[in-house]
Amino acid sequence: MTAKIMDGKAVAEKIRAKVKAEVANLKTKPGLAAILVGENPASKVYVDIKRKTCDEVGIYSELYKLPEETTEKELLQLIGRLNKSEKIHGILVQLPLPRRINEEKVLEAIALEKDVDGFSLVNVGRLASGREAAVPCTPKGVIRLLEEYGIDLAWKNAVVIGRSNIVGKPTALLLLNRNATVTICHSKTADLPHYTKKADILVAAAGKPKLVKADMVKEGAVVIDVGINRVEGKLVGDVDFASVKEKASYITPVPGGVGPMTVAMLIENTLERYKEITRRK
Ligand code: NDP
Repeated sequence: MTAKIMDGKAVAEKIRAKVKAEVANLKTKPGLAAILVGENPASKVYVDIKRKTCDEVGIYSELYKLPEETTEKELLQLIGRLNKSEKIHGILVQLPLPRRINEEKVLEAIALEKDVDGFSLVNVGRLASGREAAVPCTPKGVIRLLEEYGIDLAWKNAVVIGRSNIVGKPTALLLLNRNATVTICHSKTADLPHYTKKADILVAAAGKPKLVKADMVKEGAVVIDVGINRVEGKLVGDVDFASVKEKASYITPVPGGVGPMTVAMLIENTLERYKEITRRK
C-alpha cells in the first residue's frame, strides 16, 4: 500500500482563506500579540511566520522580540499591558522560555479570554473534562487534518508518542474526546513498537528524527508526523517517511503537514478569541 499524502499546506491555505474572508467583513480587526524572549533560532522563524500569516489574513499583530536577559517581572508587566489593550484579543508567548523564567506563572498571567494557545490551567482543565474551549494549535491542527480527510476516530486505536503539555497530552485528550481509544507513549515506555504496531492512528511527537520505522507501523495506519527536526540542514520528522509511506494509508509530510496547520489554527483561534471578547462587550 502507498499512503495518501495529507496535504497540510493545502488545508491550511483553505483555512486561511476562510479566516481572511471573515475578517474582511468585521467592523474592527482581531489582534494578536506574540512575545519572544531570547535568541532561539527556531522560535524566531516561527514567530515571523505567525506575524506574516496575520498580515496575510488581515489580523492586526504586535510582535515583541525581547532580549535574553528580560526578567520575569518585565515579561509579566508586558502581559499585564496586553491584557488591557483593546487592540489585542490573543496573547502568545513563544515557548520555550529561558529556564530562569517561570513558564507556568507567565502563562497563567495571560487573561483567560486572550489565551489563544489554550495553555492556561483553566483551558487545560476544560479540554480534560471534554468541554473544549481554546485548544492548543498543533493538537487542534492534527485533529482538523484527520477531519478534512474524513478519518473517523470512534472504535480506533490511537497511539500518541510524546506527552508534552504543548503537543502530546492535548492531542491525546482531543482524540479521546472524539471516541478514539488512546495510548500515550513516552521516553520511558517499555517496548514502543508493541504499542505503535496496534495503532490505527499514530501521532509521532517525540522530537526524534525518524524514530518511527515501517516495522513499527500497522498496515493501513494513519500516520501523523508532528516532529520537526533539523538534520544536516534539512527538516525531517519523527517518522521515516520513505519507508512508512509504503505501509500507511495516510501520512503527513515534513515539512508541509502539521506545521502549516499549526499556524492556521493560531489565526483561527485569534478570530475565535476576538469573537468571544466582542460578544461579551
Ligand atoms: P518535548 O521535547 O517537550 O516532548 C517530547 C516527548 O516525546 C516527551 O514526552 C518525551 O518523553 C517523548 N520522547 C522523546 N523521545 C522518545 C522516544 N525515543 N520514545 C518515545 N517517546 C519519546 O517536545 P514537544 O512536544 O514540544 O514537540 C515534539 C516535536 O514536535 C518536536 O520535534 C517539535 O519540534 C515538534 N513540534 C512541531 C510543531 C508543529 O507545528 N509541527 C509544533 C510544536 C512542536 P518524556 O516525557 O519521557 O521525556
